[in-house]
Parts: sequence; C-alpha cells; structure tokens
Amino acid sequence: MAITKIEAHYVEIPLPADFHPSWVPGLTMTHNRCLVVQVHDDSGHTGIGAGTVFEPRQAELGAYVAADLIARFLVGADPFEIEKHAKLVTRFALMVGGRPWPVECALWDLMARISGVPLYKLLGGARDRIRTYLSFGESLLTKDLGARLDAIDARREDGFSAFKLRSRSADYRDDVRQMEAVRAHVGDDVALMIDCNQGWNLSPLGAEWSYEDAREFCRAAGDLGFRWVEEPRHRFDYEGLARLCAEVDVSIAGGELNQGLHEFQLLLDGGCLDKLQPDACLAGGTLMVKKVAALCEARSKGFSPHTWTNGIGLLHNLHIACGVPNCDILEYPFEAPGWVPDARDALLLDPPRPAADGVLAVPQRPGIGCELDPDALKRWGTPLTG
Ligand SMILES: [Mg+2]
Repeated sequence: MAITKIEAHYVEIPLPADFHPSWVPGLTMTHNRCLVVQVHDDSGHTGIGAGTVFEPRQAELGAYVAADLIARFLVGADPFEIEKHAKLVTRFALMVGGRPWPVECALWDLMARISGVPLYKLLGGARDRIRTYLSFGESLLTKDLGARLDAIDARREDGFSAFKLRSRSADYRDDVRQMEAVRAHVGDDVALMIDCNQGWNLSPLGAEWSYEDAREFCRAAGDLGFRWVEEPRHRFDYEGLARLCAEVDVSIAGGELNQGLHEFQLLLDGGCLDKLQPDACLAGGTLMVKKVAALCEARSKGFSPHTWTNGIGLLHNLHIACGVPNCDILEYPFEAPGWVPDARDALLLDPPRPAADGVLAVPQRPGIGCELDPDALKRWGTPLTG
C-alpha cells in the first residue's frame, strides 16, 4: 500500500458570537480557523488531521510544508512506516515552520482506517470512554464573575462535574477571588482546575506574573482544593517551574506547546511539571504524544492531552487519551456563546458528545471514527493544493 496524495484546505467557520481567548488577551475571534490535511492512499482510504491557524497566510505556509514539501517524501511511501514519517514531519516543523503536525495525525487516522479499527485500539486500546472536564476559554478580562457562575450552572445541568477556569488578571489576587467565588458556588464535590496561560505570551496585553505572584496564586489554588494549576510560568522557565513544584502542594501542569520529546524529557528531568499536557495536532504529533505518555507512566507523572484546537484535533487527542493506560480525564473545550461544540465540530458528520455524566465515549468506527462533512468543507474551506 502507498500514499498517493496529500490535500490541504484553509477553513474558517463562523462562530455564533465573538470569542475572546484568554491565551491572546485583546484578540477577538469571529471564526474557528484551521488547516485541514487529508492523506489519501491507493486502497481508497483517506486520513484527516487539522490544526489551528490565526489567519489564511499561516494556513498557506502550513499547507506548503505539509502538502508540498513533506508530500514529496510521503507520496509513494507506506503509511505504516510512521516512525520515519513522524521524524520527517518534526524536522520540517523545526527547519521550515508551518506547524505541519496535522499531516502526521492524518497518517494515524489513515493507518487505523486501513486496519479497519478505531484509532485508540492502534494506540493501545486502554479504555473506550473517558471522563471529560469542561474547559472554559475566557478569563475575567472578558467574562465577569456573575457570567462565569451562570455558565458553570448551565454546564452542570448538561452533566459536567469538572471545570477548568482561566486566569489572566494583572493582579493575581483578582483571580484568587474568582477561584474562591467558584469554589463557594459549586461546593467541594466539583473538580476545579485553572489555566494561567503564562506558558506563551502572544499579546503585550497579557499579564506576566512574577515568580512570587505565581507561587502565592498556586498556594491559594491548593488551599481551595483545585486539582491543578496550568502554566503559571512561561514554558521555558524551567527553574521557576521546578521551584513552584517544590514549594506548593497543588499539581503544576503544562506542555501544550512543547513540541519535541527532548523538551518533555527536560521538563521531567528538571522536576518542572507534575502533569504533562501535549497536543498531537497543535504541537508534536501523535507518535510523540504517545511517547510522552510513556515517559509520564514510567515516572508516575500525570498525563492529560491538551485539546483546544478544533473538533478534529479533539478527536485525535481523545483516541490517544483512551489508547494509553495513564490518562483519567480529558479537556472538552466549550465557552458559550462563542466557542460552542457545534461550531467547534462543524466540519464533522456525527461528532461524539459527552453523556449525561460528562463521560465521552470513543467513536467505534475505523480511524478517528468521524467523517469530514463534504458540504461543510466546500462551504467554509479553500483548497490550498492543486
Ligand atoms: Mg492550557
């Protein structure tokens, strides 16, 4: 069997309302924008992957790297030689850029479809469903406390019992007050986490806490029984993260943008994180994320993939989370009224939804278990390959 063709599309799906991501303070998102990659083989199967982009020119670079440069080596090759292909994608990502990870993810979908099994079974088949946590995307900068409590109430009625808040206030004490208010509102039976998004700063409007601010914030989160604090420091502040892990009781999580096995090895060797959160489609690819899970297993560290890209990215990371033995909860992005599941998953036919207890079952059809909606791709997509 052989790969015959790689296609790429830039897609922009309108959101039902503006969305203000906590990770880029000041940015208003009106669309779910992504680069969709399809890998075809000579048996008639097609694998799909998708990554986040901010604008069309970023998608053009990604399409050039994934569906032109990398394709020159992949077309004619056996899709199952994934160690070789993943290394190739990593080298192009580091040398040329363009975040071409969706092509590696598409290869995994293709392998599973050729094999006639759901992807999570190729990845280890540890479980067929997983508890989700509702991951909000806006901080107090754009959503006040009353609206946050109302959103939690609405999602609890949907069945969710675990929530991740966002923290980007210039004064960390404002976000401590947010944590206190939410804990008082939901009681002790609801699992709470908070993401500070200090790991990467794309906007000068974003607060950058001192080490001491981060430490006091983490201590407050621990006192309130939060399950983890995510990215309280920049992702390359290895010493600061290690000091935090040593000086606070709450778990420190991160890793969504680290994109090489060696970076994760450094983080583990340095005692920088208690929980690692790689993302196959955002940075690194499926093979690397599976290897990171093994590193975490060997060191008894937490592992829970990041998933905030789009519906296709969520599915790929769901399959990894259920393939490996050491993941007990998965991120489920949802921030009404802008970033809602229907807009997030608009490219997919019949996307999975959590059950009334917040547990998400893996689709049992081959591959990632969902098909691209050809009408949606035609309506919102622009072909970037000939
Ligand atoms: Mg995060």
